[in-house]
Amino acid sequence: MRNDILFFLLTCCATAQPRYDLLLKGGHVIDAKNNISAVRDVAISEGRIAAVAGNIPASDARRTIDVSDLYVTPGLVDMHTHVFAGSMNREYLGENCVRPDGFTFRSGVTTVVDAGSSGWRNFGEFRDQIINRSKTRVLAMLNIVGNGMGGRPDVEQNTKDMDPQRTAEVAKRHSDVVVGIKVAHYAGPEWIAVDRGVEAGKLANIPVMVDFATFRPERPFQELVLKHLRPGDIYTHAYLSAVPMLDQQGHVLPYLFEAKKRGIIFDVGHGGGSFSWKQAIPAIKQAFLPDSISTDLHTDSMNAGMKDMLNVMSKFINMGMPLDQVIACATWHPAREIHHEELGHLTVGAPADVAALRLVRGDFGFVDSARLRMKGDQKLIAEMTLRDGRVVWALNGMSSQDWDHATK
Ligand SMILES: [Zn+2]
Repeated sequence: MRNDILFFLLTCCATAQPRYDLLLKGGHVIDAKNNISAVRDVAISEGRIAAVAGNIPASDARRTIDVSDLYVTPGLVDMHTHVFAGSMNREYLGENCVRPDGFTFRSGVTTVVDAGSSGWRNFGEFRDQIINRSKTRVLAMLNIVGNGMGGRPDVEQNTKDMDPQRTAEVAKRHSDVVVGIKVAHYAGPEWIAVDRGVEAGKLANIPVMVDFATFRPERPFQELVLKHLRPGDIYTHAYLSAVPMLDQQGHVLPYLFEAKKRGIIFDVGHGGGSFSWKQAIPAIKQAFLPDSISTDLHTDSMNAGMKDMLNVMSKFINMGMPLDQVIACATWHPAREIHHEELGHLTVGAPADVAALRLVRGDFGFVDSARLRMKGDQKLIAEMTLRDGRVVWALNGMSSQDWDHATK
């Protein structure tokens, strides 16, 4: 073959084969891990982030989507949900959980962590029924109670079923998806639930998340965050009304900052009854910010003040927390907290889990667990969500061709 023909064929084929599968063009990228908050193009190939740069030519991609009036963020990570739906334990667990795919992509979420709906006894069922069958990436914290939240509500009071060894064994066997231990809803006066949870966390080398449930003088909250939990362990329900947060003058109590300095993580875990304006508004003003923002999604929170991940994030924006920090609390921070540092950012090579969010201006109202309203003028909505490079949600069909210009 003549050299000039070979050269022609090579260049011809190079231009006919775009380098990227998909290009998100002109969005404002917020990527806390990589310290980016600026207009950038994001290119995706084979389900992974392939390039993030100032100006990537559309001709380099098979398909280009204009996202120029949107924020482009890593797919959101909601680290407190309850998604063990359809369990045979109908009384409590099965009917309080939801299926993840019905709630995630439509609010920019690509990864959820189930916070202790299952324990070592029923984790296998959870894995088979939900984790392995969901389009959402589902990770889990094992309840320190073997039955998890299964059966009657008092199942979580059964200290005989709090077995650190067995819990750690199952956590290690499923270390690809088990990311922590959950302690929740314990009402007794002793520290046994917390301490067994921490023991399991030590054995499996994973963090513990605590819902402190009934606050009792025999086990003061201050001791939980200053003594019993380890650095890297998580207290969820940060702005619950029962947390000793403010002194008589309305100042945030110094021990909370001390606990943060120790490395204790404060997660929002909004839920049905765990978020109070009277705690959150003064705390945010005084820079007692959450480390991560999560929903505590379940049947009693989904239609109340919580609603969804973006609604909870919007509350923090309207309380004055900068948007970049709010996004960090829903992406890179939770990914780091659950030791899954491959998630929550848009580094080249990372899974292409991406959210394209619109910050809408208008008259909005946000409701807390006491059903009190705070008015606001900003709200995040999810225009488009990608999981592993595939469009899994497009509110206004921005990834589709217009019907009257369709080529197929
Ligand atoms: Zn919960």
